[in-house]
Amino acid sequence: MRFSPEKLSIPDQRMKPFIDPEEIWNIINNTKPERLRVRDVIAKSLDKQRLTMEETAVLVNAVDTDLVDEIKQGAHELKQRVYGNRIVLFAPLYVGNRCTNNCKYCGFRTSNEDAIRKTLSDNEIIQEVEALEDNGQKRLILVYGEHPDYSPEYIAHTVKLVYGVKKGHGEIRRVNINAAPLDIEGFRIVGESGIGTYQVFQETYHPEAYKWYHLGGKKRDYEWRLTSLDRAQEAGIDDVGIGALFGLYDWRFEVLGLLRHTNHLEACYNVGPHTISFPRIKDAVSLNLDKKYETSNDDFKKLVAILRLAVPYTGLILTAREAPDVRREVLQYGVSQIDGGTKLELGSYSDSKNEEQNLNREQFKISDARSLAEVIDELLTNDYLPSFCTSCYRMGRTGEHFMEFSVPGFIKRFCTPNAILTLSEYICDYAQGETVDKGWNAIEKNLKKLDNEVAGSTREKIERIKLGERDLYF
Ligand code: SAM
Ligand code: SF4
Repeated sequence: MRFSPEKLSIPDQRMKPFIDPEEIWNIINNTKPERLRVRDVIAKSLDKQRLTMEETAVLVNAVDTDLVDEIKQGAHELKQRVYGNRIVLFAPLYVGNRCTNNCKYCGFRTSNEDAIRKTLSDNEIIQEVEALEDNGQKRLILVYGEHPDYSPEYIAHTVKLVYGVKKGHGEIRRVNINAAPLDIEGFRIVGESGIGTYQVFQETYHPEAYKWYHLGGKKRDYEWRLTSLDRAQEAGIDDVGIGALFGLYDWRFEVLGLLRHTNHLEACYNVGPHTISFPRIKDAVSLNLDKKYETSNDDFKKLVAILRLAVPYTGLILTAREAPDVRREVLQYGVSQIDGGTKLELGSYSDSKNEEQNLNREQFKISDARSLAEVIDELLTNDYLPSFCTSCYRMGRTGEHFMEFSVPGFIKRFCTPNAILTLSEYICDYAQGETVDKGWNAIEKNLKKLDNEVAGSTREKIERIKLGERDLYF
């Protein structure tokens, strides 16, 4: 049961727009970041309580360097205390860049006549997935423009195709989606293909700004997009991801917009978003946007820490849009998933030309072009535990971030052992050079943190992995 009937005694808010810009600005403008108040709010989050819009605004408004440092420190502490050092890895796979929309910030916009349009054929999808599997990927997010070619049936077809590709020990165990909003029936069709998360980013929660950036196509309709994940819920997809594209409007407004969206989903469906994404605008072909709302590195780092504190039980996704040094720092503030070995050009995983990005073929410029192997090596060097775990999703344990957060012992019972097992597979099948030793050392270190019984059965499974068994999990 994803919503309780008593919630409906207050007016039913499902499928209704829930953003009131005036309300959000009032909250921002009427909240003072007094020192003690900031500390109280951080303490509340560290006490594992969710923050209100007003409390989040207190953090958003804090500008003194020492207070901002305390916010970051708080987020770091919360991550350490609650989630530990695991980082889940994934890669995006662009399936098609045809698009009938005209989003000013995107290289795929319909008005970009120089864009080289392509939809991967089934064979090309298979080749791409094989190449991703050869690198060690286990989790993908499939990305599509908005176009009649990318119907729910087609998206479902590509999801099933990806799950079917097995090369050597390679297989994709979780396929997430980032595609246009669908109607309820469309979401049902895609949901039935066995997806993990369905992501739709609102881009900007401010209705007028939204209109200004979205010049044509179905995406012009702010409310259709805003209520899209309600329709996903109605269609039985309770694993949804929200996001805002930072740089389109005031970042403080977007943070509160994300929070309002979270509140809405929780109130209506008893389940918040599984993940929150916070992409920042990157260069795209003939991008000519006003820099007024450009989100600086400092504001970006601060807003990630605030999101961690405000919604402590939601996964936070950080992508290769960000440069390695920014990624390195922001990881400490509670990010749970990052991509590695990312390529945006359609077909480029299997046909690697090692060339500069050609922006007419790609949506935007990435700032972290390192391979998955390099990203994993750095994570291990910095004492993180890379994970390819897909266990909860496959065991039907939905809402895993919530469980990690709220069920005592959940992480030690499931998440850490599964991270260790998937890392063991990665080391046996794909790691090279020093990464091998670094990986086994990390595994030993993390096994020591587990109860004896769990550590024992994890060790037993590691031995089976070394002997060639795969896909062992708790
Ligand atoms: N076409 C679908 C849609 O618009 O919902 C799929 C999403 S698009 C391929 C993935 C996301 O990339 C968008 O939702 C947007 O937030 C982000 N994006 C678009 N242009 C970008 C740019 N120039 N820099 C960074 N991110 C961008
Ligand atoms: Fe199309 Fe999505 Fe790009 Fe907008 S962001 S132009 S909808 S691919």
